[in-house]
Amino acid sequence: MSDYDPEAEIEKLGIPVEYLPLHDVLAAWDADRRKVYCAIGLSQTQTRCSLGHELAHIELGHHRCSYGTAPVLSTLSQERAAELWAARKLISVVEVTIAKESGLPTNTIAHALGVTERMYRARLLAEKDDESRWLGNLGADSVTAGRVRST
Ligand SMILES: [Zn+2]
Repeated sequence: MSDYDPEAEIEKLGIPVEYLPLHDVLAAWDADRRKVYCAIGLSQTQTRCSLGHELAHIELGHHRCSYGTAPVLSTLSQERAAELWAARKLISVVEVTIAKESGLPTNTIAHALGVTERMYRARLLAEKDDESRWLGNLGADSVTAGRVRST
């Protein structure tokens, strides 16, 4: 498990994390009040992942999130972006590579990495995104290189 601590990162931004008995959501970001709310009674892993997700919304400039509820259609892309951002921060490239090569079940890997299974799946998705972007750039470069050669 990496020692990346989302709660400390949020507090570094001068934003307080308030623990409340929340219903149906694990955590929430309220940009108007500049406050993050987190449910009481979550496991350490759930807290870490929920706060990582809320930190992502803050860093990405999103206005609001209630983590844990079914997202409404207009916020789906923001929710996906936040989840992938958090997953990249919580699980390093090296960790995800070792995890994938281990062949261990998802729940065992997630537990070892100190993240929820949902967050680990998001990290795999982020990895796929990064790969296809890299391959895309590679394609664009070779096209450019071809043009340069032909002139
Ligand atoms: Zn969210």
